[in-house]
Amino acid sequence: MIVVLKHGVSDEKKAQLIAWLEALGLRIHISDGEFQTVLGLIGDTSRVDIDLVESLEIVDSVKRVTEPFKCCNRKFHPEDMVVEIGDVKVGGGNFVMIAGPCSVESEEQIVTVAKAVKAAGAQLMRGGAFKPRTSPYDFAGLKATGLEFLKIARQETGLPIVTELMNIMDLPLFEDVDVIQVGARNMQNFDLLRELGRLDKPILLKRGLANTLKELLMSAEYIMANGNERVMLCERGIRTFSDYTRNTLDLAAVPMLHQLTHLPIIVDPSHATGIAKLVPPMALAATAGGADGLIIEVHNDPIHALCDGAQSLRPEEFAELAEKIRAIRGIVA
Ligand code: PEP
Ligand code: MN
Repeated sequence: MIVVLKHGVSDEKKAQLIAWLEALGLRIHISDGEFQTVLGLIGDTSRVDIDLVESLEIVDSVKRVTEPFKCCNRKFHPEDMVVEIGDVKVGGGNFVMIAGPCSVESEEQIVTVAKAVKAAGAQLMRGGAFKPRTSPYDFAGLKATGLEFLKIARQETGLPIVTELMNIMDLPLFEDVDVIQVGARNMQNFDLLRELGRLDKPILLKRGLANTLKELLMSAEYIMANGNERVMLCERGIRTFSDYTRNTLDLAAVPMLHQLTHLPIIVDPSHATGIAKLVPPMALAATAGGADGLIIEVHNDPIHALCDGAQSLRPEEFAELAEKIRAIRGIVA
C-alpha cells in the first residue's frame, strides 16, 4: 500500500503518521521527492483502514500495491533512482558506459584495456575474476589475483571496478570492489542476494537466462528488502528459439522496467548477441530505447581471449561506438 502525502506537510505530522503505521506492525519506506512524499507500507496491510487513512488531513491519496515487489516498485519511489559510484552517477538522466574484458587475464591485459576504454569515455571498467563457465574444463578466472590486477588497473586509470561475485564465501575478497555483479546464473541465488542486501555497495543484477521481468524484480527485492537499495538491473539477453545469436536481446524490457521500477536499467549487448559485429547496432538501439547505461566487453586481442573473444570489441571499435552512443544520447536525453 502507498500513502501519498499532501505537499508541504510538516515533519512532525509526518512522523506522527509514520509512528502510528509502524505501531500496526508495518515497515515504512519513505520516498521524499521534490514534489511529493510517498510512504510505502510493507507487511500485512490488511489491518489498515484505507478510508480512515485517506480521510486524514495530511494525506492526499492511498493506493493498494498489488505487485509482489514493493521496495523496487516505482509506486513506492516515483522518481528515478540515481546510483552513485564515487563521482559516477547512474540513472535519472545519467548515462554510464561500463567496458572491459570478459575476464581478467593478466595485469598487462587489464591495465591496457582499462586505459583504452577510459580514453574512449567509459566511466566504469568491467572484468571477471571469478568466471561462471558452462564447462568445468574452461578458464574460470584468476580469482583473488584477478581482483588484485583490477585494483592496479583502477589505480592506473581511476575507473571504478565492476566484477562478478559467484559465491558468498568469497565476499571478504570483494570489500574493495566498487560494484558487485550478480551474474545471470545467480539471479535466483536467494541466499547470495540476501547477503548482498546487507552491504553498503552498489549491485549490478543481471537477468537470468530464462527469467521474467517479474522474477528479476523479485530478485532485486531480495537485495533491497535487506537494506541495500543501490541496485542496477541488467538486461543481457534471454534464451529463445533464435538460432544465429547467443541470446535474444529483450529491448522492450528497458521501457517496461522503467515503468515498473525506479532502478537504473543497464543493457549488455555483448552477452545478448555473442557476436562482436552485432554489439554496436544493439548498443545504439538500447541507448535510443532509454537504457541508463551499457556494459560492453572489450579486449585488446579478441582472437586470443580466454573467454568470450567472439563478442569482444577491439579498443578502437569501442572508441568508435562510444562516439556514436554520445550522439544518440544527445538526441534522446
Ligand atoms: C559476464 O558479464 O561476464 C557474464 C558472465 O555475464 P552473464 O552472467 O550475463 O552471462
Ligand atoms: Mn563474458
